[in-house]
Amino acid sequence: MTRFRATALRLLLASAVLTFAAFSQGQNTPTDVPPVVDVHVHAMDESFPGGGPMCPNEAKFLASDPKTKEAPFGWDVENCTPKLYPAEKGEYLKDMKAEMERLNVKAVVFGDAASVKKWQDSMPGRVIPGTSFSEGMTPGARVELDKLRQEFTTGGFKVMGEIGLQYEGLSPSDPSVDKYFALAEELDIPVAIHMGTGGSGRANLTTPKFRGSMGNPLLLEELLARHPKLRVQVMHAGYPMIDNMLTLLQANSHVYVDVAGLIWSYPLKEVNRYIQRIVEAGFEDRVMFGTDQMEWPKLMAYSISIIQNADYLSPEEKRDILYNNAARFLRLDTPEKR
Ligand SMILES: [Zn+2]
Repeated sequence: MTRFRATALRLLLASAVLTFAAFSQGQNTPTDVPPVVDVHVHAMDESFPGGGPMCPNEAKFLASDPKTKEAPFGWDVENCTPKLYPAEKGEYLKDMKAEMERLNVKAVVFGDAASVKKWQDSMPGRVIPGTSFSEGMTPGARVELDKLRQEFTTGGFKVMGEIGLQYEGLSPSDPSVDKYFALAEELDIPVAIHMGTGGSGRANLTTPKFRGSMGNPLLLEELLARHPKLRVQVMHAGYPMIDNMLTLLQANSHVYVDVAGLIWSYPLKEVNRYIQRIVEAGFEDRVMFGTDQMEWPKLMAYSISIIQNADYLSPEEKRDILYNNAARFLRLDTPEKR
């Protein structure tokens, strides 16, 4: 790394922290703040398994030795800055409502019907409901096709996701799940599929069936060939398989990506480089903002600040990523004019 680059990186980090601080102080009212769509939020309450403080954009993932007991994440939680904390007990949903109002965010919130309804009731007008065909956390447990059809026809759900087949070691083109994608195509419901990111080198401990190879974006090709009208959101932008991601975007113009999870889970320079590569390859109008919000209320403001501070994006491109692209993909009624 040259000295110039190191200084530029320090400045970038400093301005990200400053913007994050400004966002955190609640100086803006929703009428001042341009709208944001977060396409990737989980309808959790406060029960993220293995939760606790979190280190966004940690600079490295620590090595481990199978002989010793290890933490489920490779973060050095004791020493990182900034650190994001879970809400006080019983306060999470209230905190998220306040954050989403302050930041003027509308979010696609994924979960089972009861959990998503709780979010909708607590912040009317800010939740776009999403649900999927996996029953809870049990790998392979599926929702009945008829029940899913009902949820998308009369139940008000708008997006099918998060589809986490990679955590089951399955390709999205696996024939065993094709009927769900056929349903989405028939009902013209966009699908949001987890592709890529898999944590910090602890997959063998935390999610033994997870396979990095099943996050290859090109595994979507057969599915897209079978269902040419399917609208696909590649969650986490297939990180880190950039070449395959660009190949897929080049071949399929109704495939979009979200930067959720990826945006705060990896070193900041690497995150910016990845997003910049997609934008500079010509696919800026298919990049959507997302957090993968789980249990840390300030994560949304923090993640928005990374896009706001990206020096390789023009103001128009920032608005596209934070709002316009998602509004087009989700066919929201009132997309903001550029
Ligand atoms: Zn995911």
